Amino acid sequence: MIVILKHNTQEEKRNQLIGWLKNQGVDVHISQGEYQTVLGLIGDTAKIDKDLVASLDMVDSVKIVTDPFKCCNRKFHPDDTIVEIGDVKIGGGNFCMIAGPCSVENEEQIVAVARSVKASGAQLLRGGAFKPRTSPYDFQGLKATGLELLKIAREETGLPIVSEVMAVNDLPLFDDVDVIQIGARNMQNFDLLREVGKLRKPVLLKRGLANTVKELLMSAEYIMAGGNEQVILCERGIRTFDDYTRNTLDLAVVPVLHELTHLPVIVDPSHATGVAKLVRPMALAAAACDADGLMIEVHNDPMHALCDGAQSLLPEDFDKLAKEVKAVREVTGK
Ligand code: PEP
Ligand code: MN
Repeated sequence: MIVILKHNTQEEKRNQLIGWLKNQGVDVHISQGEYQTVLGLIGDTAKIDKDLVASLDMVDSVKIVTDPFKCCNRKFHPDDTIVEIGDVKIGGGNFCMIAGPCSVENEEQIVAVARSVKASGAQLLRGGAFKPRTSPYDFQGLKATGLELLKIAREETGLPIVSEVMAVNDLPLFDDVDVIQIGARNMQNFDLLREVGKLRKPVLLKRGLANTVKELLMSAEYIMAGGNEQVILCERGIRTFDDYTRNTLDLAVVPVLHELTHLPVIVDPSHATGVAKLVRPMALAAAACDADGLMIEVHNDPMHALCDGAQSLLPEDFDKLAKEVKAVREVTGK
């Protein structure tokens, strides 16, 4: 249920109503917009007399929300959420470029890539330290050492860092990581979602290989139900019958998600296509359809990358792409 308050409602009256609603056993989320205040009620709202609430002077309208996702629902929070990482903002018109190698391999590699992507305008540095690989015989990431090397690259460039956590037990190692990534394969690892929900730092949640939009939103809901409201959604391609590309990039979810949720939505064209030459067109398309950012794999020596070399851009190609993305945003009026 959502309760929309009249514009001029006094804070004291509003708080009295919130107190009364909480006494009915529901949780109340307050979304204070420029023009209206929306109270989002979560829990068993059956006991609440909708007509009584609607009759109050301060109440503009009351609506029943039947969607199973509440905290991330745009009906609960009409304004875009802007996730902030230091000076970097994502969402609400703020576009963010996240770039870096699939995996952190050594200090020289991560620092060199960090320097070049920063020079091209990237605002966040990505790099996997714990790698979810299909084969147990493939490179599994440098783990804690990889996170330390990422921090060195942050120190050298000032770029905040994004890295994937795969297990609840590893979370303490991520204390000093700026954005925690939940990878596609863990999108429905509910224990992990609940744990990152207890944190108060941004979480980049990737859509699972075979998950629906609703399932993605329910996973975001797990994180937000714990009180962590800083969630960034990421479309990274889904599995379909066609195996010509690594995955099928479902770009339509960008406008769909913008309608359903207030959370920022970014696109990862690297994992979506698996092919470096397809990253550019898909990145430009994502910028054109209003994505709030891009996550792009960049490697200084893709031929010898320990993971995902085939989809990694050379720094100079990322540089060209960053300029084109900017141009696309300008022509589409952003
Ligand atoms: C990644 O971004 O490093 C990654 C493994 O991506 P995904 O979870 O989308 O496969
Ligand atoms: Mn990768």
